[in-house]
Amino acid sequence: MNAEKTGLIGSEFTLDPNNWIKMRTLGHRMLDDMMKYQQNIRSHQFSFPTKEAIREICAPLTNEGEGVEKIYDVFFNNILPYSFGNQSPLFWGLVVGTGSPFGMLAEMLRGGMNSPTESFTAEGYVHQQVIEWIKELLEFPTEASGVIVSGGSEANFTCLAVARNAKAEIDMKAKGAQGLRQRMTLYCSDETHHCLERSVELLGLGNEALRWIPTDDDCKIRIDALQKAIKEDRKQKNHPFCVIGCAGTINSGAFDDLNALANLCEHEHLWFHIDGAFGAWVKLSKTHRHLAKGLERADSLAIDLHKWMYMPYGIGCALVRDPLAHYSTFVYGHEARYLKSTFEEIQDKFADSHNLALPLSRNFNSLKAYMLLRAYGRQKYSRLIQQNINQTNYLADLIMKEATMEITAPVTSNIVCFRYNPQGLTEEELEKINKLIYEALCRINLMIVSDTTIKGKYMLRACNVNHRSQKKDFEFLVKEIERIGMTFMSQLKPN
Ligand SMILES: *Cc1c(COP(=O)(O)O)cnc(C)c1O
Repeated sequence: MNAEKTGLIGSEFTLDPNNWIKMRTLGHRMLDDMMKYQQNIRSHQFSFPTKEAIREICAPLTNEGEGVEKIYDVFFNNILPYSFGNQSPLFWGLVVGTGSPFGMLAEMLRGGMNSPTESFTAEGYVHQQVIEWIKELLEFPTEASGVIVSGGSEANFTCLAVARNAKAEIDMKAKGAQGLRQRMTLYCSDETHHCLERSVELLGLGNEALRWIPTDDDCKIRIDALQKAIKEDRKQKNHPFCVIGCAGTINSGAFDDLNALANLCEHEHLWFHIDGAFGAWVKLSKTHRHLAKGLERADSLAIDLHKWMYMPYGIGCALVRDPLAHYSTFVYGHEARYLKSTFEEIQDKFADSHNLALPLSRNFNSLKAYMLLRAYGRQKYSRLIQQNINQTNYLADLIMKEATMEITAPVTSNIVCFRYNPQGLTEEELEKINKLIYEALCRINLMIVSDTTIKGKYMLRACNVNHRSQKKDFEFLVKEIERIGMTFMSQLKPN
């Protein structure tokens, strides 16, 4: 068997290679291949994995191991070619980030260190510095505590857990939801991301406690309807405790009136949480930063960095205005003896990430954010965010100029909802033809756009968090839709 698979020190095994030179050579090859892949990403054509590729991927686990070179070949030939395609400049589906070459390198360094984050180590200082920078960029109160998590879902969950514990009338840690005498209720718009519903479920509050408030024509939460719902709950002897505001809705990129929500929460003594997963970053735009007015007034804010900040996957951040509420929610309820540290004196327990979110062991995820933010600086990110917004408006203009296409939801930030509508078709026919167009578009790139339904209307949706897209790519999209639409029209209504 290959000697480089595992090393031998005398008769003992290690996973270090016997032959470091060979391992390094392989590493260099991997790096070269991945740089080339990123450099040529514009010509990468998405395709579903072939039968052969799937067979190769779903291989039986061997006893002896197949060797590092063999498995890299499997990756290169059977996994990489069939990847999702979200790094392409022609990807505007869902809200999916692209990553970047330097981000990839930072991930490699993180892997090389493979260390957890403790407040008194270099990793801890890096983590805390990233939190400080995020607060600064988003103009969030400096006293807030923060923790790097895996993404928007975990960030929202983390924040709602704090909100629940801080606002419960009983000791939630000890009694749990089973001890509640009154039903705790919370409020969000019907355009809110479903990860918040899941958080409410996992927090033991039950999704019936989440009131989905209708939105207006701009897809913003209706404040009057919200007030009414809170009043009704108080009448029913329920316990309203939290309002969730959206800074960038998943469907259309709408922003709730955050100042109005903050006023209402102050008045009603409610926790004000904001899901700003991608949208909070409009703060970096000159022309659209006003959309996030009031963001700084939230009790908690959930964001991610792997969508609109172009960072490699798996990074988000939960910010909580009251550090003690944050810490009290996640610190172990009973003393964990195995964690008793001889470093207690130098430990900053309010900054230790394992006191501020679910994981104990965690990777050094903040490193990539640290390196990227520091390498590129505020201005480059501002410029990219602005560029994405400008391109989105450019796309909207192109669509509006087409007689056969229409915008179907207000364009607020970086999302355009639209459909093919050559006039004279019923709603049913429109849905049918747009679904056909969507399927056809998937053949260009799996998710060049995605689809959604707003207020009962089926539509296509382009969300631009892509630092590789250029104006010509949006021109291509509109031309393609026009062309595909025309083909289907001739099939739908033969003359
Ligand atoms: C993506 C998204 C989430 C969920 O975040 P993940 O990083 O995917 O876990 C929550 N809210 C909004 C508005 C989002 O766009």
